Amino acid sequence: MAALASYEKLWIGGEWTGATGGKTFDVLQPEDSQIYSTVAHGGVEDVNRAVAAAKLSATSYGQSLAKDREAWLMEAAHLLMLRKSQFMGALIDEIGSPLKKAEFEYGKALSMLRAASGMARQAKGEVIPSDHVGRLSMSIRKPVGVVAAITPFNVPLIKGVRLTANPLALGNTVVLLPSEEAPTIAMMLAELYSEAGIPAGAFNVVTGYGHEIGDALTSHPDVAMVTFTGSSRVGAHIQRICAAGNKRVTLELGGKSPMVVLADADLGKAVPAAIQGIFTFQGQVCMGNSRIYVERTVFDAFLALFSAATQKLGMGDLRSPQTVLGPIISERQRERVRRHIAEAQDKGATLVTGGKWEGNRCQPTILTGVTEAMACCREETFGPVVSVYPVDSYEEALRCANDTEYGLASAIFTRDLERAMHFAQHSSAAMCHINASALQDEPHVPFGGNGASGAGREGTHADIEAMTELKWITINN
Ligand code: NAD
Repeated sequence: MAALASYEKLWIGGEWTGATGGKTFDVLQPEDSQIYSTVAHGGVEDVNRAVAAAKLSATSYGQSLAKDREAWLMEAAHLLMLRKSQFMGALIDEIGSPLKKAEFEYGKALSMLRAASGMARQAKGEVIPSDHVGRLSMSIRKPVGVVAAITPFNVPLIKGVRLTANPLALGNTVVLLPSEEAPTIAMMLAELYSEAGIPAGAFNVVTGYGHEIGDALTSHPDVAMVTFTGSSRVGAHIQRICAAGNKRVTLELGGKSPMVVLADADLGKAVPAAIQGIFTFQGQVCMGNSRIYVERTVFDAFLALFSAATQKLGMGDLRSPQTVLGPIISERQRERVRRHIAEAQDKGATLVTGGKWEGNRCQPTILTGVTEAMACCREETFGPVVSVYPVDSYEEALRCANDTEYGLASAIFTRDLERAMHFAQHSSAAMCHINASALQDEPHVPFGGNGASGAGREGTHADIEAMTELKWITINN
């Protein structure tokens, strides 16, 4: 039984404060649907209070010295190191992360927080050649102001850090709306940032239901930018709101990422990568390689190895390092996973392995014979379900890999570097990995997606562009 967390208040203007309506809601553990914590049920008035606090703080925080922001974020990283067990506990109990996934997420978030501290000194302008004699022409970077950060349930620490530490490093103030399914980490971050010295009002958290209060946040006239990670459906809605309000926006959305395995691939590397790429965190990862295209001459060999390895994956205690698959987050998500598997079987797909449930956990599931008539062919399942297809050539593999509205990540296994580079150049995905799975991330890389997978890029370099305004200044004599 998990320790009960309790954060029944919102973090606004450097204080814990109850939701205006006095309401709370319960967050359920995915493992047994028992209450994990009770949190404040923020409403539109609370969003307005949080934005007002962030706006009030924006002037002084925007003028804070880079060395101070660097120091605050370095101290936050230090505190995150000291509180590893608390953060790991929330990742395991609140969202059902197996230990290995929680360790991966914690380690990534720590790197991201450290990397964010280094951004503070990097928001540089430049001296520009001028068309006028006697003119010194230059650009400087200014923070954009109040940034609304909205995070999904599946990586609340990675995204909770990246979508808040990066804007804070650049002198912006932040209002964080975490997923209603994973709000605890956001409150733990509020404590961390506050103790690290980040001034009151620079970071605020409103918990509540995104569908109730999200629009009030993203359309608020004092919010200059929205940085969102979540589903393509909500992302498209936010993009329309931001366009109407002439706001900056970065969107990191869903995916249906392909992996290609060519005949000359090292199957000893491709199979473990395919497993890691789709079954990590029971398939609830945006980059998950849920479509695998294998050249026909090695299709049977690949499928036999992949299926055998899949059947050995641990589904035991979440705190065991052997466990790979835990519970699916909520009934809403479980229903979709069940529907995709059942419909594929009804319409003639072959269930190679998996398909059964143990409580709220779905066995790792491999399908072949998936066709356009099945939802799992094109839609994001966001569960441990993968379709494997034979292809007759590299050209067919490339065509199939690109036949999707998504464009997040792709992967190819081959020993032919020329082919691999051709694939990397012509893959419609925004990120491509040669001889590694599609599931990769680092703090400073241009992370993001094309098409239905998003707009804009995240990462320390990309966020300096996205989260600061360039201003042109001249001195004339
Ligand atoms: P979701 O879209 O249901 O919710 C994401 C967030 O949006 C939550 O905080 C929710 O409260 C909020 N929200 C809901 N309605 C809103 C509105 N009208 N305005 C503003 N905010 C609103 O997504 P989810 O189920 O939490 O997460 C899973 C999805 O996220 C998957 O599609 C996955 O691929 C995607 N994802 C993408 C990345 C990436 O980097 N590309 C990373 C992680 C997850």
